[in-house]
Amino acid sequence: MRNRRAALAAIAGAASLALTLTACGQSGEGGSEEKAGDAKGGTIGIAMPTKSSERWITDGANVEKDLKAKGYKTKLVFGEDDPDQQVSQIENLITQGVKALIIAAIDNKSLNNVLQQAADAKIPVISYDRLILGTKNVDYYASFDNEKVGKLQATYLADKLGLASGKGPFNIELFAGSNDDNNTKYFFNGAMSVLQPYIDSKKLVVKSGQTKMTQVTTLRWDGATAQRRMEDILTSSYKSGKVDAVLSPYDGISIGIIAALKSDGYGTAAKPLPVISGQDAELASVKSIIAGQQSMTVYKDLRKLAQVATDMVDATLNGKKPEINDTKSYDNGTKVVPAYLLQPVSVDKTNYQKELVDGGYYTADQLK
Ligand code: BGC
Repeated sequence: MRNRRAALAAIAGAASLALTLTACGQSGEGGSEEKAGDAKGGTIGIAMPTKSSERWITDGANVEKDLKAKGYKTKLVFGEDDPDQQVSQIENLITQGVKALIIAAIDNKSLNNVLQQAADAKIPVISYDRLILGTKNVDYYASFDNEKVGKLQATYLADKLGLASGKGPFNIELFAGSNDDNNTKYFFNGAMSVLQPYIDSKKLVVKSGQTKMTQVTTLRWDGATAQRRMEDILTSSYKSGKVDAVLSPYDGISIGIIAALKSDGYGTAAKPLPVISGQDAELASVKSIIAGQQSMTVYKDLRKLAQVATDMVDATLNGKKPEINDTKSYDNGTKVVPAYLLQPVSVDKTNYQKELVDGGYYTADQLK
């Protein structure tokens, strides 16, 4: 998406179309009355997880735009974070004769049966951003270096606290993403590879005692769930002392955490907000970074991800091998899925202008 405004207009269009959802929640070009497969190049089914986070709306718009530019029609569906709904949406896309599927899974293990149906119909499947587990019926994976995302988040926290130069001890609390998203453990393990040595040397103290991934996940990446957990931690573990840093895996979660901290009196000169990470460079969080609340985000250029995924579709449908740059990191339990991994970028108030505005991801006006 070279022009973010155009993309946002497309998003608004997608949102209004969504108001007239057909039975299976379809939107996008084509319409339910039109048979998929008529168009030159055919129709590609795109299944995104939810519209509750800006990034997936942007992903849907970018993927549709790139596929149309390549001569395909598209059918875009959003699963509203309900795994069953996503399964039936994909079943519908298969019934309608799509030529290929691009899927960002809600629950990485829920798609085995429906992907067998896709395989039986010889429909190639691209796992988009989140790896689908437990099935051989995934052809390629388009994503970012997810372990690096976690490392960037944790390195930022460590740098801001001055841990490498021996400062500390500091109090930190840890949050992870949804336990049914394969990315969650890559983000968390990447972050802990940086933080664990400081926890071991007691330069970082987790007063809640919640350090295992299973204790810190946030179902469906829900900001309100994270907010409640942060409130509970503040009540139970911070009767004295203050939180100096929070590892947050995603911007929507960071917003919830910051809300909990503010209602506990953080955000003043006497009690500043902790250093807090994020991910996705969503508009509200970039504004929060500029306002000095959230400290950083991990920017993943979704324009590039859409390009990679749609190139994979186009190559596969034309009997060519898509470009791959990783053949070992993403074992889905059945096979190692050939992947193309893009590079995430750490963004804070010192470089958002260069990365996000000069890079054409947002206009300066959008960030006001
Ligand atoms: C994506 C992140 C996103 C999260 C919540 C993950 O699978 O990789 O970019 O923040 O889901 O939507």
